[in-house]
Amino acid sequence: MRTTKSFATRAIHHGYDPAQNEGALTPPLHMTSTFVFETAEQGGARFAGEAEGHVYSRISNPTLDLLERRIAVLEGAEAGLALASGIGAITAAMWTLLEPGDELIVDETLYGCTFSFLHHGLAKFGITVTHVDLTDPENLIKAISAKTRMVYFETPANPNMRLVDIAAVSDIAHAAGAIVMVDNTYSTPYLTQPITLGADVVVHSATKYLGGHGDVIAGLLVGDHETVTRIRLFGMKDMTGAVMSPFNASLVLRGIKTLELRMDRHCQSAMVVAKMLEASANVDRVWYPGLMSFEQRDLSLRQMSDFGGMIAFELNGGIAAGRAMINKTQMIHCAVSLGDTETLIQHPASMTHSTYTPEERHRHGISDGLVRLSVGLEGVEDILADLEQALA
Ligand SMILES: *Cc1c(COP(=O)(O)O)cnc(C)c1O
Repeated sequence: MRTTKSFATRAIHHGYDPAQNEGALTPPLHMTSTFVFETAEQGGARFAGEAEGHVYSRISNPTLDLLERRIAVLEGAEAGLALASGIGAITAAMWTLLEPGDELIVDETLYGCTFSFLHHGLAKFGITVTHVDLTDPENLIKAISAKTRMVYFETPANPNMRLVDIAAVSDIAHAAGAIVMVDNTYSTPYLTQPITLGADVVVHSATKYLGGHGDVIAGLLVGDHETVTRIRLFGMKDMTGAVMSPFNASLVLRGIKTLELRMDRHCQSAMVVAKMLEASANVDRVWYPGLMSFEQRDLSLRQMSDFGGMIAFELNGGIAAGRAMINKTQMIHCAVSLGDTETLIQHPASMTHSTYTPEERHRHGISDGLVRLSVGLEGVEDILADLEQALA
């Protein structure tokens, strides 16, 4: 018997034994708010943290517990935590790990609501948010100081696909006494495992590839036991209350079972679509880590086992041409979110990244003409045909 199981096997089996659950093949859904204590003493001991066992579903729940163990093993981390949304995971972690007076260093490009939380939320409470171009780790060496408590970034970044070298940034951050938190939503643990490269905490919008079917808003987070427990008992339980419903946990558990299969198809189709876009006379530029023309090609080969399902591109006619193209797609839907079975197209400047002012978008590398495409699981010939007629 192999002792180390493959990614897909862990995604399907890890942490669950039907024999302990009345023989049920599929994990039961524990729709309960609270848990009954056998005695007052047992309840008291659980509250005091002196006895194992669930207390109340804002702290823990058996269905979430299984999902938490599964994401931890897939990411190569000690512990996991399920939260109500990706933003719930990011905010719960930051409220827990940062103090007034700390500095948070982040990359130039961030998902719109993350940017909004940092500048309109955290900054109000005496935490300094400094943007540094982390695509060159040298910039971090210059910017980091004793005040820097955390370095945070996405790779690939939403929406412009820039990559950050997780190992290089983690080395620099750790040498200066800072921790590293990575948003791994675009890659998923199937393509990149930031913890194994040196990151301390990894967050996910499980709404995207992990759920995978556009039917759930969900967040996940992994790290060491001590850090995850702190985030559970403070950031989640008290500061945000951003608790995942057991029903949503069962949807994400189901999604993760097919993550490997789905990601392989997303990657395969996105490569074909990116090449078609690059060859089109109407397209000015394409950003996809699998293309030979991708600026950070070396890093993409080093850090990603494949290149994912997300593509950014700009048309020759800029924003007007981009809007016209989006309006001409037929099978492909204009919608935000990503990582679903359906191919989705959207315009970041007026949609997901409209939380930035136009000047901020310009400063942070999100151009007005950028179009974001999430390549779905339909037949690739149908995706190509729809894009080709829309580009014509
Ligand atoms: C969608 C997204 C988020 C936010 O996640 P929600 O589940 O919508 O709260 C955070 N980071 C990235 C990279 C995302 O794409």
